[in-house]
Amino acid sequence: MVFIMKKQLSIVLLLALVMTSAQLMAQKAKHVIFLTIDGFRPDFYLDSEWQTPNLRALMKDGAYAKGVNSVFPSMTYPSHTTIVTGVQPVKHGVYYNNIFTLDGEAKMPYWQDSSIHAPTIWKAAKDKGMTVASLYWPVSADAPVDYNIPDIGGLGDSVRAQYSLPKGFYDEVKKEVFGGADKIDNGKNQNIAQIAAYIIKKSKPELMTIHVFSVDGAQHGVGRSGARVQQAIADADEAVGIIIKALKDAGIYENTVLMIGGDHGFYDVKKSIAPNVWLKEAGLITDLKAGDWKAQFNTVGGSAYLYLKDAADKATANKVKALLEAQPDSVKQYYRIITKEQLKKGGYNPNVAFALTAEHDASFNMANTGNAVKPGKGGTHGHFPDTKNIRTGLIVHGPGIRKGAVIAQMDLKDMTPIMIKLLGIPFSKVDGKVPAGLLE
Ligand SMILES: [Zn+2]
Repeated sequence: MVFIMKKQLSIVLLLALVMTSAQLMAQKAKHVIFLTIDGFRPDFYLDSEWQTPNLRALMKDGAYAKGVNSVFPSMTYPSHTTIVTGVQPVKHGVYYNNIFTLDGEAKMPYWQDSSIHAPTIWKAAKDKGMTVASLYWPVSADAPVDYNIPDIGGLGDSVRAQYSLPKGFYDEVKKEVFGGADKIDNGKNQNIAQIAAYIIKKSKPELMTIHVFSVDGAQHGVGRSGARVQQAIADADEAVGIIIKALKDAGIYENTVLMIGGDHGFYDVKKSIAPNVWLKEAGLITDLKAGDWKAQFNTVGGSAYLYLKDAADKATANKVKALLEAQPDSVKQYYRIITKEQLKKGGYNPNVAFALTAEHDASFNMANTGNAVKPGKGGTHGHFPDTKNIRTGLIVHGPGIRKGAVIAQMDLKDMTPIMIKLLGIPFSKVDGKVPAGLLE
């Protein structure tokens, strides 16, 4: 009898223990901060040639991925939208940075939350009563968050101020963080980190998404290597240091998971290809503005997308394919066709007949006159996400993360599943999953 009681008692104790640890698990990560360094490459933390002491310290004490597959195009806005939705572009609807128009009109960026046709992590966290903040994140104007300074492409500072949250926040930041400056140098990673630090100390948000972008600008300018890239990644690393310090000052570092990721890698550019020149020569483009065309490419960095005037016009699609295949090998080496089936399988733009991804350090441009092949310079991205250089990275650090975990390869669509698991919030069905072995 006594024995049985003891046994029952131990079961009760065991249950209590299990419950406590489950609750502890759930409570461990009270805050999640996702910082993207635009154009972030895994070698920035895997190779010691880069000045990234903060990143390396987080990596040593946390987990990291050797490579993260982007989306197609591996462009900033589609990538960032996949990070906050957990789904591929066909489901969230952000296909490029700029909305493509068939008549060649000036392009508007995708910039408002209403352009995202899938549930976001911001709303899910907000619905759970959490404090949510976002800084310079693409396609986030009007997002349901408490603090916001959106990335609004080239629409200008007044639009950015108008859409900052809470109302008047952009002016508040100028006054409180930058000593009354009339302009914020957004291109400086440390400045964005200072704004993040201000919000962290003020409101200790449970979820915060932050985007810094000078590493992207540097690589567009000079390619994958060079002093400018060194400086930009060192600045981004310093921004990470500023955020860590703010978390410590606010007393929440121990229960914050810090995720440092990116949106795409980079390729050098040595050639610039204008595929619409071939379409014009073949009579498939006469006058885009007048609507006199049968097929045209929308080129975005290292990729190009074939639109047909009549989407069912298979003969024209085949004609374009034949034009591409008829080029000499010296030209054909610069592109590879991504078929409609590949686009469908990956969950990419369904509105095009097929696409091109650049090879051998080529990039694409929109010209339809002049030479189709010209010298190019700097760096670019946008390529199909199946090659190493276009992969981005991820470092994760904090409670609930298995120390020393190394993820060989994962996808951008896996970021939302990780965040919802850590925050313990309900979310709709996603395309991604938490990588095995990442969490404790
Ligand atoms: Zn980017």
